[in-house]
Amino acid sequence: MKPNLIAGEWRTTQDAQANINPSDTNDIIDHYALSTLQDVEDAVQAAHVAASSWGKSTPQQRFDLLDKIGTEILARKDELGNLLAREEGKTLPEGIGEATRAGHIFKFFAGEALRPSGEKMASVRPGIEVEITREPIGTVGIITPWNFPIAIPAWKIAPALAYGNTIVFKPAELVPGCAWALADIIHQSGVPKGVFNLVMGKGTVVGKALVAHPDVAGISFTGSIQTGKDIVTACAAFQKKVQLEMGGKNPLVILDDADLDTAVACAVNGAFFSTGQRCTASSRLIVSEGIHDRFVEAMVNKLAALKVDDARMPGVEMGPVVDEAQLAKDLHYIQQAVREGARLAFGGQTFERKTPGFFLAPTLFVETTNEMTINREEVFGPVASVIRVKDYEEALFVANDTPFGLSSGICTTSLKHAHHFKNHAKAGMVMVNLPTAGVDYHVPFGGTKASSYGAREQGSHAKEFYTIVKTTYIFAG
Ligand code: NAD
Repeated sequence: MKPNLIAGEWRTTQDAQANINPSDTNDIIDHYALSTLQDVEDAVQAAHVAASSWGKSTPQQRFDLLDKIGTEILARKDELGNLLAREEGKTLPEGIGEATRAGHIFKFFAGEALRPSGEKMASVRPGIEVEITREPIGTVGIITPWNFPIAIPAWKIAPALAYGNTIVFKPAELVPGCAWALADIIHQSGVPKGVFNLVMGKGTVVGKALVAHPDVAGISFTGSIQTGKDIVTACAAFQKKVQLEMGGKNPLVILDDADLDTAVACAVNGAFFSTGQRCTASSRLIVSEGIHDRFVEAMVNKLAALKVDDARMPGVEMGPVVDEAQLAKDLHYIQQAVREGARLAFGGQTFERKTPGFFLAPTLFVETTNEMTINREEVFGPVASVIRVKDYEEALFVANDTPFGLSSGICTTSLKHAHHFKNHAKAGMVMVNLPTAGVDYHVPFGGTKASSYGAREQGSHAKEFYTIVKTTYIFAG
């Protein structure tokens, strides 16, 4: 059994959960600790005790630790990428790419540790100086989803450490393998006892207890809308700092003047890579009349040629759905779309490969309206739908007509439309002639409306969540 990391020690639990490869359900990767409430209590206490010394650690100490972790991740990116592909079902190049990104994130935040920001200002009163500085918030609970098993933990853990906080990390049930490997790297890199703790297990046990614990000063969460809503309500009751990144129903607008190859490449990548299991996936393809039929035909041809198989097989472009429950959810949405009058242009069915896995064809609906369930709710699978519109104005209206606001894209060769879209898209991130998914690691990430809540993640903006501002007045005489 792969154990938890609590107060610098590896600690086993009575119960364990199997980690199953979604490309081959006969392949059990390993068994991982299933934590109890006592494990959470011990981890929080360890982090709480370590908070004051880590909060006072020097920027050099933090830089050295984060830089070492980043170096180790980058040195082992192939092995970590392989584990990621095996437990989550991303293709091997996607898995290696994600591990590389995690390494870069640690390197970026190593640099951030050396740049503690502060301001010195003149007071409005004579003889007084004012200093504005930032301090760590204390112990943070980090709760992550399964779809980016190493990058999302990295983009929460690295800033938490860089800005002087201690951590209790609770990864998603489906992907303890990457979480454990990352914890091992952090431990081997010499993180002081109690500064970083890993407690694996159920959201309803471990996650809930972390959110409710009085010694946890803040919760950084990425996951589904419903869990996010529960967490924000609980955090408000405990006056805890909270940051949520949740779902999306991201539009990709394709205008008549778009380059067709660019538009198809953006749509295939944005909607189907990583099996469509990305919060930034382009699930609504909003296409203007003049290019609609050519676009749909080119999409169907591309999807027919897409190689779907075991995530780690060379040349595979799309791996399986992550597990049986997610596959059932995807199929439910597909059936509902058909019932509501959407026309299946491609896919819609599961299929078999050499190994027993959760394989679903890339699925494209046409003749859909923005009011259909398939265009209102997040599927979180390899399913996209085309919405035909008259012109740019209607496209922009439809793009913004959603409860979500994470990423919004447009394919056009018109500078005027690209510029107008950038200014009027109601989303936290805008992409021009690019897929809605795929972002840099050194700039802020996050959305508007139901997609996000609280301060932005990543880049130097991460300090908004992981620090608290102190204003000091000094009477110099
Ligand atoms: P989920 O909400 O089921 O689980 C996320 C995490 O919360 C898991 O670790 C889970 O164990 C934990 N959890 C569950 N119940 C809890 C509770 N009551 N209290 C505390 N923690 C609890 O989400 P998921 O299925 O793992 O992930 C898929 C979702 O994540 C999708 O909706 C996707 O859009 C979203 N997501 C968003 C982003 C983003 O940055 N916006 C990125 C990736 C994924």
